[in-house]
Amino acid sequence: MKFFQITLITTFLVIVGCKEKYNTSTSKIQHHVGNVSSDSKLHWSYKGETGPEHWKEIEKNSECGGSIQSPINIVNYVLDSTLHKFSVQYAAGTHIHDVVNNGHTIQYNFEVGDYVVFDNVKHTLRQFHIHEPAEHLIDGVRFPMELHLVHQNDDGGYAVISVMAKEGISSEPFSFLERFLPLEVGDKKTVDLEFDMNLSLPSDKTYFTYEGSLTTPPCTENVQWIIFKEPITVSLAQVDNIKKIMPLNNYRGIQPRNSRPVILSDY
Ligand SMILES: [Zn+2]
Repeated sequence: MKFFQITLITTFLVIVGCKEKYNTSTSKIQHHVGNVSSDSKLHWSYKGETGPEHWKEIEKNSECGGSIQSPINIVNYVLDSTLHKFSVQYAAGTHIHDVVNNGHTIQYNFEVGDYVVFDNVKHTLRQFHIHEPAEHLIDGVRFPMELHLVHQNDDGGYAVISVMAKEGISSEPFSFLERFLPLEVGDKKTVDLEFDMNLSLPSDKTYFTYEGSLTTPPCTENVQWIIFKEPITVSLAQVDNIKKIMPLNNYRGIQPRNSRPVILSDY
């Protein structure tokens, strides 16, 4: 039986950085995030010769050329009434430790987080980050923004909750998050404040789920995706604010579905 259960637990801080070769002539670096490589190896990006079409060549040990990759177009899904209602209840006292601009996205890392249980396996909330525009399509529609809430279990498997955002009334939690911006590439800022993740989720918890991968190298293929059908709203100013400090179009194009089922919760 599939169900979700949220409980506050202590978690570990994980900063998902990447080996980056920064061009110091164009970026001011105050604090490096992750390991800064001094070799001349090309690093992945979202455009040109290091863009998504080349990830499988330039990231040799990645799974970017695999057969169950993400994102996909969410279409031709099947209803499953055995999926229980997804009553997300992140604790209001969840602590964001810091925010980083890793050159690919803006990412908020958790110090004390929550976990979800999917198929009876606990997945701890690690971080969330932003894609603009969205990576997954829903019935062919690309929303202006997609948030990825990244959870991981003790065996290294991921559960990523995806929240689409469309332009509308401004989002209070987003105003809070944007207080810590802008950030230059490579910068990290301590947040050390409580954040209620529930406020960043849609009220309608109907969701799609399928098996796929991380959407950035190493494109690891052990991700259970949980994608809310309904978007939240953010203001145009809030979208623009974030757009200014992330790479233009930090999304990977849709990947072949290869007969994977996509399930829609039925309630
Ligand atoms: Zn992502």
